Amino acid sequence: MKISLLGATGSVGVQTLAVVRQHPAAFQIVALAFGSNIQKGAQIIREFSPEIVSVATKDIARQLAHQFPTVTFYHGMAGLIEVATFHKSTMLVNAILGSRGLLPTLRAIESHKTIALANKETLVTAGHLVMDAVKKHNVTLLPVDSEHSAIFQSLQGNSKRAVDSILLTASGGSFRDKTREQLANVTLADALNHPNWAMGPKITIDSATLFNKGLEVIEAHWLFGLPYDKINVTIHRESIIHSCVNYVDGSMIAQMGAPDMRLPIQYALTYPNRLPISYDEPFDLNKIGQLSFEAVDMKRFRALYLSYEAGKAGGSMPTVLNAANEVAVEAFLTKKISFLDIENLVEKAMLAHSIIKNPELETILAIETETRQRVTSWL
Ligand code: NDP
Ligand code: MG
Repeated sequence: MKISLLGATGSVGVQTLAVVRQHPAAFQIVALAFGSNIQKGAQIIREFSPEIVSVATKDIARQLAHQFPTVTFYHGMAGLIEVATFHKSTMLVNAILGSRGLLPTLRAIESHKTIALANKETLVTAGHLVMDAVKKHNVTLLPVDSEHSAIFQSLQGNSKRAVDSILLTASGGSFRDKTREQLANVTLADALNHPNWAMGPKITIDSATLFNKGLEVIEAHWLFGLPYDKINVTIHRESIIHSCVNYVDGSMIAQMGAPDMRLPIQYALTYPNRLPISYDEPFDLNKIGQLSFEAVDMKRFRALYLSYEAGKAGGSMPTVLNAANEVAVEAFLTKKISFLDIENLVEKAMLAHSIIKNPELETILAIETETRQRVTSWL
């Protein structure tokens, strides 16, 4: 299968390349995009020989074109769309960061690519547009996010009508044992220290606030077509059960495995088949010993509460939640604001917004820009 990969230099991108490297007869990267990590990007181009590459800026594109004269380089949003819709690829793996993944995803759907989606911000920003396009163009959208892959795997062979609800597991992130009072003084370094998963900085912060789980609740609403009262969350410290489907007869079917993104990435690439993965250590339940589950305190984890509120409000509110969170997390990562400011800014942006029902793409993009400007002005 020929693949276009967005976000090749990132955490999910690199693990996608590891899957491709293990199965060279099955997969080929024909087009890829990254931002500004030139060194890592050049190494990836050398190893995987894509035909076209897109990068963040014209300068970077020019610089790399000298180094790789046989590759065609693009840049910016137009470049991301070139890669996503490249005529030789049949699948888009979207592992770029943030809502900039929306337009390339929509264009790839219109070009009849199968979509493997890690970029959850896209579904949160404009889930209704993405799902409408999927239906209209009759393409397959496969989840890469581990929780959604777990649900997707647990749905196989069962009728959708038999589903009662779903349960997303959350590790609880870096601060799961801290009280709200203690959160006032946490540092960036503490927040970046995730107990179970090694991921990019933005999603690591999202895991600490639990906005990541909130974004995933909205993502699940669109992927699986369930109302918000049928999407539940539990704190599961071990990150072994990756999520679970509750059926009408009381059966709970879950997917479990090591916390390793190669598995959900590869499942999206091989679905409905499976291929082996070599792990450093065998997955041994006897060593894990115990699995634990705790109810989430919505007062303690206000970000999750806000996400449910945005999801239930619908219309343009999830767009605002996501855009405000992207700006706030970036400000926290550059030490402009404190940890608790992230959820305060998101809440303030939600309160300042009047919902637009069923927003068109142009409206979504305008609300995105407006929210980003508004939150930036508050920093
Ligand atoms: P990273 O920050 O590790 O990687 C982000 C990627 O996006 C990099 O390749 C980066 O390029 C690229 N990028 C950023 N800005 C631009 C730009 N302007 N133009 C082109 N490319 C750009 O993120 P993750 O891999 O952690 O996450 C990616 C997505 O997957 C997110 O939506 C996240 O929520 C989701 N996800 C991640 C998981 C994980 O385990 N990490 C698990 C589940 C979902 P460069 O670095 O070269 O600038
Ligand atoms: Mg996840």
